[in-house]
Amino acid sequence: MSNAIARPELNVIIIGAGTGGLCLAHGLKRAGITVTVFERDRTRTDGLQGFRVGIDADGCRALDANLPPELYETFLATCAISPEWFNGLSEQFGELLSLKASPPRDPRHGERSVSRMTLRQVLLTGLEDITRFDKVFSHYEQRADGRVEAFFEDGSSAVADVLVGADGSNSRIRKQYLPRAGMDDTLIRSIGGKVPATPETLALLTPKIRRGVTLIMAPKGFGAILHVMEFPWDQAGAPKQGIGASDAELIAQWPGLRFDNSRDYISWGIWAAADKFPRDLRALNGQELLALSQRLTATWHPNWRKLLAASDPNSVFPVVIRTSVPPEPWAPSNVTLLGDAIHTMTPGRGVGANTALRDAVLLTRYLQAVKEGRKELVAAIGAYEARMRAYSADAVERSRQQMDGRTAIHKPVIGRVLLACQRSFMRLVSITPPLRKRMQRSLEALRGGEREAEEPI
Ligand SMILES: Cc1cc2nc3c(=O)[nH]c(=O)nc-3n(C[C@H](O)[C@H](O)[C@H](O)COP(=O)(O)OP(=O)(O)OC[C@H]3O[C@@H](n4cnc5c(N)ncnc54)[C@H](O)[C@@H]3O)c2cc1C
Repeated sequence: MSNAIARPELNVIIIGAGTGGLCLAHGLKRAGITVTVFERDRTRTDGLQGFRVGIDADGCRALDANLPPELYETFLATCAISPEWFNGLSEQFGELLSLKASPPRDPRHGERSVSRMTLRQVLLTGLEDITRFDKVFSHYEQRADGRVEAFFEDGSSAVADVLVGADGSNSRIRKQYLPRAGMDDTLIRSIGGKVPATPETLALLTPKIRRGVTLIMAPKGFGAILHVMEFPWDQAGAPKQGIGASDAELIAQWPGLRFDNSRDYISWGIWAAADKFPRDLRALNGQELLALSQRLTATWHPNWRKLLAASDPNSVFPVVIRTSVPPEPWAPSNVTLLGDAIHTMTPGRGVGANTALRDAVLLTRYLQAVKEGRKELVAAIGAYEARMRAYSADAVERSRQQMDGRTAIHKPVIGRVLLACQRSFMRLVSITPPLRKRMQRSLEALRGGEREAEEPI
């Protein structure tokens, strides 16, 4: 039995208006907890928000739990068309395996494709009054009164009962609070870009690629991904015909669309071991990165090459794939972390944002318990961290297994043999119904489709 006392005045500062920080802010605001978000971007439309994020059942449940109900409906209405197929192809576009997504057990919480910019604009809706842009956090200090003070590069500061670092993979809060928490280079490099979706570019894709998430398994450890993002609004930002009257109404009423530059596109990404890329990848501009991607995939299917040729060079960006080394447990305090700030993971499983959202809900519930006197503050943060550490370490490890430049698939001879085995296995799954079913089930489990609704605290 806890002897905590209620803390109706509980006050929280969040550093970082990213996916996790903003979801937490919604939850705390709804719980009646005073919360302020500080973000380094100068405006709500700054930052590279361009590419796609797959929000799975876990992520949807988290958003549904923390967002006001009408805003969750807006989130659903503003997602791109959900993928119907999960495709595995060779680099010559030969089909290895195509699995049709089964209808989600709970239609409100199925797999969604969302543009980062759209998600950010949805999450900022209703938080305008508590989000401060152009605030670059520098460090924090513990005060004698038990509160914590956050300092910003412009010389200002803010005081609160709790400081949450939701400031992404280069988190300054993590570096100050847990200086031994390390990051590791996976020795994987990646380049991503976008092609405007037009009748001509869409015609380069088969119907399954057009309506799916497509992974390409190529020789020499190269991999690639293709997604088509079709939004419910047109080039002018007006709701498209045939999306349904209530979605059209939600989109028309949503102020976030004024700040959202997402329009229909095809996104692509390639990756391989670091030795296939120049050392100074991050120094290359979009045009150079695009030319490099074209050189690296010059023998691939002609339609792939045409897609790259149609890409907007300004949309092409490099990614050095890093991963957290899960830290040893630490003594809790009134400073805590969520999302990439404490568990950066490779995009290999597409669960970084989903895990950040899961953290946001869990932390909301613990802080709500503190406000209501059901838990003491530091104990509640410690309990949140213990659970977050457990599930995030698993997600970090599994994501790393998918993208690690040290594994055999990247080695010259054994890599070729492994690729041949993987492709044969996928073809076998494709023609063997019980194997297909099993693969489908494990895919659904991976995307959070089988977890129960709420984790008790
Ligand atoms: C290519 C790629 C594809 C991915 N695809 C997926 C996917 O399909 N599904 C998925 O779940 N995840 C995906 N991820 C991972 C996902 O993008 C991240 O895990 C997620 O964005 C983490 O959210 P966050 O809130 O922790 O951090 P972020 O969204 O990075 O937000 C951090 C915020 O903090 C701000 N900030 C940083 N420093 C400061 C400072 N000093 N002061 C003030 N503000 C600061 C930043 O500007 C930013 O707004 C992908 C990642 C990559 C690289």
